[in-house]
Amino acid sequence: MRRVSLSRRLLLRAAGAAAGWSALAPALGRVRNGGRGAMAASTNEALTIRWLGHSAFLIKRGPLRLVTDPFADNMGYPPIRAEADVVTVSHEHFDHNNVQAVQGRPRVFRALKDGTWRSVDEQVGGELAIRAFPSYHDDRQGQARGKNGVFLLEWAGVRIVHLGDLGHRLGAAPGTVTAEQLKPVHLLLIPVGGYYTIDAAVAREVVSALQPSVVVPMHYRTRAIAGWPLAPVDDFIAHYPSVRRIAGERAWSAPPAGQPEVWLFAEPAT
Ligand SMILES: [Zn+2]
Repeated sequence: MRRVSLSRRLLLRAAGAAAGWSALAPALGRVRNGGRGAMAASTNEALTIRWLGHSAFLIKRGPLRLVTDPFADNMGYPPIRAEADVVTVSHEHFDHNNVQAVQGRPRVFRALKDGTWRSVDEQVGGELAIRAFPSYHDDRQGQARGKNGVFLLEWAGVRIVHLGDLGHRLGAAPGTVTAEQLKPVHLLLIPVGGYYTIDAAVAREVVSALQPSVVVPMHYRTRAIAGWPLAPVDDFIAHYPSVRRIAGERAWSAPPAGQPEVWLFAEPAT
């Protein structure tokens, strides 16, 4: 947070010095939109990630901010009020598509349109590439819960995969995303709670297929959504020797090669 505000202050100072205060408003506009012009100020910024609850994360680098799968305000987690430049939506269920909760004027990338997959292949701010790939929300080719999108974010050299509400093993259904299309994966955001998505056992298979450096479990039962028919995260993390507990946000850093490291975020305070 401090780094962002520092880089903003530097940008303000640079804009003011170079072109007078009249340059301020357009310069800020470019930052908010993740415009190319602003990116030079953030070349050495770290990528940071914060869990907002469920499948929602705030990922930032310098002034560019992205929120994944914002959930409904009344779910039990603290309502999302983060400001962002970009929002991704894996599918159009209320626990993933509450775009209105995100502050600012974000560009929204939806993996589905009218219930079917749409092509997403976009560049944002010259440092972030966003692509979406087809998958299903169940293991019956969408007959139970419809379709789902898997997002691949390539951000300053870090490849982040958000699986949305994936309901099956990768490559299990014709026309859906394969592990080969996504690899290499540095940071994997994966549902593990079962019932609506893959469960802990299948999630571990998906992790084996993708061989990410870091795994972040999501979409599991917590105090905030204690009434949901999801499993808690324990079944999933029990099988990994390296679990790092994280309060608040964490800057990206690659762990030593070998076993994936699990980043277990503390439940956002209610
Ligand atoms: Zn969901």
